[in-house]
Amino acid sequence: MAHDVIVVGGGIAGCAAAERLAGEGLSVVLLERGALAGGATGRNQGGLLPSPVPACGGLFAEAIAFYEEAARDRGVSFRFRPHGYLLVASDEDGLARARNHGRALTEVGFPTQEIGPADLRTVEPGLAPDLAGAVAVDGAHALHPVLAAVALAGRAARAGAEIRTHTTVRGLTTDGDRVTGVVTDAGPLAAGAVVLAAGPWARSLAQQVGSDVPVFGSRGWLVRTAPVTDTAFRHTLMQSTWHGPVGLKRSGPPLLADIAAPAATATQVVFSLQPLPGGDVVLGSSSGPALQPDDPGDGEEAVALIAAAAARHVPVLAEAPVRAAWSGVRPMSPDGLPLVGPAPGAPGLWLLTGFGIDGMPLAPGTARLLTEYVVSGRCPAGAEPFAPGRFDD
Ligand SMILES: Cc1cc2nc3c(=O)[nH]c(=O)nc-3n(C[C@H](O)[C@H](O)[C@H](O)COP(=O)(O)OP(=O)(O)OC[C@H]3O[C@@H](n4cnc5c(N)ncnc54)[C@H](O)[C@@H]3O)c2cc1C
Repeated sequence: MAHDVIVVGGGIAGCAAAERLAGEGLSVVLLERGALAGGATGRNQGGLLPSPVPACGGLFAEAIAFYEEAARDRGVSFRFRPHGYLLVASDEDGLARARNHGRALTEVGFPTQEIGPADLRTVEPGLAPDLAGAVAVDGAHALHPVLAAVALAGRAARAGAEIRTHTTVRGLTTDGDRVTGVVTDAGPLAAGAVVLAAGPWARSLAQQVGSDVPVFGSRGWLVRTAPVTDTAFRHTLMQSTWHGPVGLKRSGPPLLADIAAPAATATQVVFSLQPLPGGDVVLGSSSGPALQPDDPGDGEEAVALIAAAAARHVPVLAEAPVRAAWSGVRPMSPDGLPLVGPAPGAPGLWLLTGFGIDGMPLAPGTARLLTEYVVSGRCPAGAEPFAPGRFDD
């Protein structure tokens, strides 16, 4: 039987899309090649951190309201909680970046407050005594990303969606240039619309029908430690670079020069720390080119750089037992904004990918925009900055 929509990918984007589409009464099947949240969604730090990008402000507020409502649902608890957030700086340059970042956040509605070095250890006792200062940011939240995806898939299933895990989409079926469904190992499956929420893997699927989707992979590593005796962390901590206006973030596909460099220089590391409810901390994070999204290339260098950055900012962590290290591949777009809408040159094919460093706060609102687009056939208000065709000449 044909479905209205096939969603490919069971990360936060695919689960949010299935939930929204099924909520509109459409018949939806979600196909995930592994377990739910087996991609970047299951490997991230679980932070919902305010972004200074104006196009994302409304989506952030929508996500907080959405997760609050979903957290009250009878389904899976995903430990959604408000969270303190500090942009920390080890030197004057870093503090200037944190101030700029703080100003940009204030302009889009997130209040911030500078904390001088003398008060820093009262606010967060584990920090190094010689840091230059920090900027406290209001509005951050945290959640358990795997459980959040599972919770959304549960809501989708209750709204009538079928969730099929361990089902790989091998290709797309077409009628002329129109995409009419997918092919799995069990055979073809037809649908009125196919949504690629397949992270960086969306590109190779879209290429099969001649649509060039500018999404590429950036591998990020994280290190988890056991709790440090006598030090309970109260904030998400971050060097002001990931989101900052002077951002350290990959803004295009890897260049040949990136991959010609030794891995230690091709891999960029920004200190971040996410405390977990039981006292463990997750330390990050790196960004390195992922030409082969399934090949964990830069691991040894990345975790060494993460450990050094963490010990610099939080010296007590040097004695913390390491529990695990893992990596995931962020789906990046050239301008850091997601790709939401029809795939260029392939009617019937839709994109919900390119979430970069912010998939958890951006997925619910962009899934709503995509749903409105699929249902009405018209670009909804607010979706323009995310049009997949915006990079076309
Ligand atoms: C180290 C690290 C830390 C991060 N920290 C944060 C954070 O704190 N906060 C935040 O908001 N974001 C964070 N991110 C980014 C976030 O993880 C991503 O933006 C988000 O998870 C992207 O979700 P997605 O659903 O688009 O992709 P994914 O979660 O990668 O999902 C894509 C899914 O598609 C499936 N798939 C692919 N090909 C096929 C196929 N052919 N057939 C069927 N299924 C297929 C994959 O198996 C995968 O499950 C972090 C990322 C990393 C790597």
